Amino acid sequence: MKILGSAVAASFVLLLACQPPARAQAPAAEPTDPKATEQWEPVPPVITPGNVAGAAPSDAIVLFDGHNLDQWETVKDGSPARWKVHDGVVTVDKSTGNIQTRQHFRDYQLHLEWRVPEGITGDGQARGNSGVFLASTGKGDEGYEVQILDSYNNKTYVNGQAASVYKQAPPLVNAMRPPGQWQVYDIVWTAPVFAADGALKTPACVTVFHNGVLVQNHRELAGETVYIGKPKYKPYTDAAIKLQAHGDPSPPISFRNIWVRKLG
Ligand code: MG
Repeated sequence: MKILGSAVAASFVLLLACQPPARAQAPAAEPTDPKATEQWEPVPPVITPGNVAGAAPSDAIVLFDGHNLDQWETVKDGSPARWKVHDGVVTVDKSTGNIQTRQHFRDYQLHLEWRVPEGITGDGQARGNSGVFLASTGKGDEGYEVQILDSYNNKTYVNGQAASVYKQAPPLVNAMRPPGQWQVYDIVWTAPVFAADGALKTPACVTVFHNGVLVQNHRELAGETVYIGKPKYKPYTDAAIKLQAHGDPSPPISFRNIWVRKLG
C-alpha cells in the first residue's frame, strides 16, 4: 500500500505540474486575421541617414567633424582638450593626456574613424596604442576600453589587439587595414545597470564592427577593463566617452568623423 500511496502521490504531483490550461480542452482555432499581428503605433521617428556610408545621420550628436574639439575636455583637469586639430583630423597629443566628451551618455551607437600613421614604429602594445573608453569612470584609464592599436602584422596578446575588449575579449577576426589607411569602428554600447545599493543588475554589452566587419557580437563584459588583475564593476549612471593618449613612444594616431546616437 505504501508503494501504491507513493504512486498516487507521484501522479498527483505530475497532475499539478502538467495541469493544462482550462481552455486547452477545445482545439485552438487557427488565426485567420493578418491584421491581428500588425503594429501601427508608436511610429518610429523619421531621420535622414548620412548621404554616404559612415556619415552622421540627422539624429546624431557630432563629437568631431574636423573643425574643433569643442565637445571634448582634458580628462585630468576638465580644461579644453588640446590635441592637435589639423587638416580635418585630430592627432593625439600624448603630453596632454586622455580627452573625453563633455556630454555624458548611457546606451548609444558610436561611429569613429582612426588612422595609424604610415611608417609607425614600435612593437606589440607600443605601436599605435590608443583606445576608446565607452564609459569613462575616472581619471587615467578607468572605464571600459575597446582597444585601438596597429594590429597589422603586429603580434601581441590577442585580448589586447585592435578591436579587443581590452584584456577581456579578442576580436572575432582581425579586420585591420595597413598603417596610413583609415580604420572605422561602429560600436553599440549597452551600459551596465546597477541597483540603488550599487549591486550589478545587468552587465554591460558591446557590439563592434571594425571596417564593417563584426568583431564583437553582443559581448558581455565582466567589469571595467583593467591592465592588471581581474575586471570588476563600479556603479555609475552615465559617463563620458574617452579617447586614450597612451604613453608608448610610437608616433601618435589620428581621429576623424566621430558621432554618437543616444539609444533608449
Ligand atoms: Mg589602449
